[in-house]
Amino acid sequence: MKYVAGERPEGCVFCLAPDADDDEANLIAFRGTHNYVILNAYPYNSGHVLVVPYDHLSDVTDLSEPQACEMFWLARMCVKAMQRCMRPEGVNIGMNVGHAAGAGIEDHIHLHIVPRWSGDTNFMSTIGETRVVPQSLDECSRNLAPALASVIEAEKASRTGNEATSDPHSVSEA
Ligand SMILES: [Zn+2]
Repeated sequence: MKYVAGERPEGCVFCLAPDADDDEANLIAFRGTHNYVILNAYPYNSGHVLVVPYDHLSDVTDLSEPQACEMFWLARMCVKAMQRCMRPEGVNIGMNVGHAAGAGIEDHIHLHIVPRWSGDTNFMSTIGETRVVPQSLDECSRNLAPALASVIEAEKASRTGNEATSDPHSVSEA
């Protein structure tokens, strides 16, 4: 792992955002154990969020197993939250690792989750352009952050419920 505790580089927005004490101003929608969810300040589309590890990692292969698992779990929760409050017709999930792959901030990896609707611009052609989005970031943030919190709460509750069942195969289908 390249990042050593206490040696976060100066000026990395993905390190600075969670360190600051104002999640709303920094567009942070949710804080997990290893990763946080942040609304993209330069969205490709309305509701575009990023899942970002707290650790300053530039290579996806440096993610630990728990970091990687939580990253994709949070991506799934983001999609659920979007389905609840934005009703997208599709979703792009992806990562640009390295300059050649088109990474905007190549020193600190991040997973993009972009809700899509029929008729909006093709994902690839939108990369690199700042677009005028129909819904303001603030409004999006207001809708998505609580939706994400409630989706995650429900997911955790159902998980606890599953653990309470000693043998999941014994559940009757009546
Ligand atoms: Zn960083």
